[in-house]
Amino acid sequence: MCPSTWINGLRVFRDFDHFTVYRIKQLLDDSGVPCYLKNEYIAGAIGEVSPLDAQPEVWIADDEWQPKAQRLIDTFMTENQAKQGQASWLCSGCQEVNEPSFNLCWQCGTARPD
Ligand SMILES: [Zn+2]
Repeated sequence: MCPSTWINGLRVFRDFDHFTVYRIKQLLDDSGVPCYLKNEYIAGAIGEVSPLDAQPEVWIADDEWQPKAQRLIDTFMTENQAKQGQASWLCSGCQEVNEPSFNLCWQCGTARPD
């Protein structure tokens, strides 16, 4: 199905953290919720678009899926936080958001702030 035909689509999640966005997409796919990604490739274009618009987003094909999608996402985020016990961190060098498990920025190598 072509995403452009999904006129009733609804954004259910967005985040600067691409890993999380992809995992949400995968989660919805695995649960049979029709969904697709937006802004997947424009992270390198920050500076030309506003940073808020540059976040990758997960959209569902139809808003009738919203309750199920929201429940899946809520569960995922709760489990995710419980597992990691700490939040993602923002690099002071390049403003990239890093996974809690990283001690160095994956993009520029700056050490994680205390
Ligand atoms: Zn960095």
